[in-house]
Amino acid sequence: MTKSLQAIRGMHDILPAQVALWQHVEDTVREVLTSYGYAEIRTPLVEVTALFHRAIGAVTDIVEKEMYSFDDRNGDSLSLRPEGTASCVRAALEHGLLIQPQRLWYRGAMFRYERPQRGRYRQFHQIGVETFGLAGAEIDLELMLLTARLWRRLGLTDLRLELNSLGDAEERAAYRAQLVTYLSAHADQLDADSQRRLTTNPLRVLDSKHPATQEIVAGAPTLLAHLGAETRSHFEQICAGLDAAGVSYQLNPRLVRGLDYYNRTVFEWVTDALGAQGTVCAGGRYDGLVAQLGGKSVPAIGFAMGLERLVEVLAAAGQMPDSAVDVYLVAVGAAAQQAAPVVAERLRDAVPGLRMLTNCGGGNFKNQFKKADKSGAQFALVLGETELAENRFGLKSLRLDSEQQSFTFEELTAFLTAHLTV
Ligand code: ATP
Ligand code: MG
Repeated sequence: MTKSLQAIRGMHDILPAQVALWQHVEDTVREVLTSYGYAEIRTPLVEVTALFHRAIGAVTDIVEKEMYSFDDRNGDSLSLRPEGTASCVRAALEHGLLIQPQRLWYRGAMFRYERPQRGRYRQFHQIGVETFGLAGAEIDLELMLLTARLWRRLGLTDLRLELNSLGDAEERAAYRAQLVTYLSAHADQLDADSQRRLTTNPLRVLDSKHPATQEIVAGAPTLLAHLGAETRSHFEQICAGLDAAGVSYQLNPRLVRGLDYYNRTVFEWVTDALGAQGTVCAGGRYDGLVAQLGGKSVPAIGFAMGLERLVEVLAAAGQMPDSAVDVYLVAVGAAAQQAAPVVAERLRDAVPGLRMLTNCGGGNFKNQFKKADKSGAQFALVLGETELAENRFGLKSLRLDSEQQSFTFEELTAFLTAHLTV
């Protein structure tokens, strides 16, 4: 017996029944981003492996163990992109976009070899934003206000904003030394991963999900208390702006983010509705990355949201946009069946936006009405021999208990146009 073929573990088909919600999220995000003047950029799914090593950092989870890397036929090491920022910076540098400020966004699949579980997959989708050339706190604030608007548009009310500042490189280095001293004194109580990170990437220990480590971390010194005047003022401007705009937030001194390149502002939007994988959107400032990848020093800040998680929160909240068609065209009899596709074209011309499914494969009235009902359509549009002879159309609601009405083509288009605008 041949083994049945299946999708790769951690990589999922998104089936037609789920796609309406995905499109709703994607369309809403695109509308909001466009209204703030952000321009879309599309980069390849595959990049040279060195890009991610240099951008993300050699001792991050992603580069250490999550990348899909392979040699191509030419022997070059390539990787499926695990995130979008590195590619965006690479493209912006390559095409000289950074001579002026940029507000960019992207969307698409990302790949990480993680342990698949709820909210954590090996192929997942992000929509992300990257801005370049803007150093002031206004843009940090704009990104948070923009995402808050997006949640309002999507009807998501239970997301909370968590905020922290990682300081500048020097402040972080000084803090890092203090943190290592503190954590080393408790090293035997830390989980194995955190013990290892104590030497490689101690800030990541703050972010550990291990209960025992979290207890130790609760008593650790915080970076917020070590910020210099400039960084502090940058951070306070963001907080003041959020207050003024009425967007609530929580300071989370343990928020560090998984990637190496962040400085100053980091933020996450978190929900309790998804269990352990509660972060739906995460971002921060990365003023050093462009130079690290070979450009001039250009300040930058961005975020990425996980679409699987967002869609799941919306589905849990009972949101399912209406994906059914408006009209199902029933055509009975050989002549009507032959005329139906042309009639359907005329109707599509006259009522733009009309969602209409035409019956294919014949059948009697009863049989076609059954299919019409099953399609979820609001109305059955009936084209029988009588209608064809009289140049009229029957319209019957499939959802309300009302009589079938007889319309001329003009009456029909007026009726359907009115129906679409309510
Ligand atoms: P986490 O702490 O959950 O591992 P991360 O810090 O690795 O997140 P980022 O790289 O900042 O996440 O990605 C931004 C967002 O993309 C996350 O907040 C999440 O919504 C989503 N995301 C990240 N990794 C995955 C994954 N493996 N599966 C599904 N969504 C993901
Ligand atoms: Mg991760």
